[in-house]
Amino acid sequence: MFSEKLISWYHQNKRELPWRNTRDPYKIWLSEIILQQTRVEQGLPYYQKFIAAFPTVVSLAKAKEDEVLKLWQGLGYYSRARNLQHAAKSVATDFKGKFPSEYKDILSLKGVGEYTAAAIASFSYDLPYPVLDGNVFRVISRVYGFHEAIDSSIGKKKFIEHLHTLIPHKDPASFNQAIMEFGAMHCTPKNPDCNACIFKSECYAANNDKVDLLPVKEKKIVKRDRYFYYKVSLDSEKNILIQKRKGKDIWEGMYEFPNVESPVQLDNPLKELNINKKELLSFSEIQKHLLTHQNIYFSFYVVKAISSKKDLWVSAEKLLEYPVPKIIQDFIHKTLNLYLPHK
Ligand code: SF4
Repeated sequence: MFSEKLISWYHQNKRELPWRNTRDPYKIWLSEIILQQTRVEQGLPYYQKFIAAFPTVVSLAKAKEDEVLKLWQGLGYYSRARNLQHAAKSVATDFKGKFPSEYKDILSLKGVGEYTAAAIASFSYDLPYPVLDGNVFRVISRVYGFHEAIDSSIGKKKFIEHLHTLIPHKDPASFNQAIMEFGAMHCTPKNPDCNACIFKSECYAANNDKVDLLPVKEKKIVKRDRYFYYKVSLDSEKNILIQKRKGKDIWEGMYEFPNVESPVQLDNPLKELNINKKELLSFSEIQKHLLTHQNIYFSFYVVKAISSKKDLWVSAEKLLEYPVPKIIQDFIHKTLNLYLPHK
């Protein structure tokens, strides 16, 4: 009953999205990885750019890492873009260019977790694996009154077992699409429209005044503060000094200006950046960029400098071709342009 009502709601209310009109596992995989990062409206242009640049999984496997990161620029969590390419290479070599069709093989790809594997297996191959994301947790916990924490292993197990009893084996794809769409469009985190809901009569949360209390989460996210002070060096030709970010950390493999990082605000950033006041052209106030697990604080110090052959100095035009973090991209567009030669 739950499934029929849900699927029928879906057919009447679904949004038309390009990855819904395909069974191509590559396109479905790409869309799912992008949608883990962002909302549909923001994710759509990224999906279209990726498909245009890399129409097949093999073309993605052959791309340069910088190209992939550049296309991903602005989405955040750049390890996902690197995993995407790593997985594409596995498909190209281990599976001879054909996307795997068995759940366990799909799950073996780098960056593909249970949720994504279930989405690909059901949407592309009609395999009855239920998806479990934030939308699904919300709908199930509210309708069935599940109070187990959704970020606990006991909670996840209970939800998955229950979904296995609901998912119809003859049309798992529609069920999975429907429950996610219902959570995204109707049973929303705040102010869901319970009065106009197809589950109004049987919904536990709506009938027990618990809509705002479900789903339950156990852990609170502890955020870490990070302060980045960037030194933006310009030579007399207006070339800019950049470097590639190394190490297993945020923005790995992307390009940035040399910088100093600190867990607290610095009293004297000029000293730490080794900047003499005479060479300083300008600096920005500290700004904030909030990520799920980190609070990023940052500021830029633009200085006159003398370029050297051993470092990476690039022209303004060239700089725009490099993948850079969003905060640097914004700085280039808003501030650095003031200093650069106009074409
Ligand atoms: S009645 Fe309200 S809480 Fe229950 S499923 Fe519908 S929208 Fe969600």
